[in-house]
Amino acid sequence: MPMEIKQNLQTINDKLKNTACKLVAVSKTYPADIIAEAYEYGQRIFGENKVQELAEKYGTLPKDIEWHLIGHLQSNKVRYIAPFVSLIHSVDSLKLLKEIDKEGKKNSRIIHCLFQIYIASEDTKFGLSFEETRALLGSAEFKSMNNIKITGLMGMATNTVDRDQVRAEFRSLKVFFESLKADLNAKEGNVDLRDISMGMSSDYDIAIEEGSTLVRVGSAIFGSRHY
Ligand SMILES: *Cc1c(COP(=O)(O)O)cnc(C)c1O
Repeated sequence: MPMEIKQNLQTINDKLKNTACKLVAVSKTYPADIIAEAYEYGQRIFGENKVQELAEKYGTLPKDIEWHLIGHLQSNKVRYIAPFVSLIHSVDSLKLLKEIDKEGKKNSRIIHCLFQIYIASEDTKFGLSFEETRALLGSAEFKSMNNIKITGLMGMATNTVDRDQVRAEFRSLKVFFESLKADLNAKEGNVDLRDISMGMSSDYDIAIEEGSTLVRVGSAIFGSRHY
């Protein structure tokens, strides 16, 4: 399988050419030597969904890697990644954001975050509704946070073979993103909306067409995962 990594990265990067979209290589469950191989082929952004695994890999791999946390994050684990994480894709509550802000302050950093927005028609996924997101952004508590920056939104489409449905869900996220940007005067204080994280192995081609700026692709690079 590792021998195919170079070719898989090439295939995806060809599709990203002439777009504003970047590749987050989702390396969860894969060992450090596999990540090192992708690094050797030029990949620099990696995504993990578990805090402990992310912290361990950060410790052993080159320091110019941009590490993204893409999975559900518990407030009590923020401190393990706060010193180095480049982007947290999965902020889904004010409580979590407050903790990230606190840890950002301790580390003298501004931690970049995306709000995870619920766009799927499944009730198993984490995320904020459009209304909850607006309320959060408008709250005094949010405006007082100086050690986080909201740089965009993340969404996961329904796990379905219905590509029209997936497309409609991605489109709804893009429409919401644009409306927030218009309302918020985009670059004020701790908000600078520039990224839409959407698209995985099965649907990243649709996501690119619908305006994604970060695709999170795992199995299409590294092969299927064995848990
Ligand atoms: C695992 C994961 C991905 C990548 O999934 P693939 O189907 O392997 O590309 C993307 N986003 C999140 C949040 C994930 O947990």
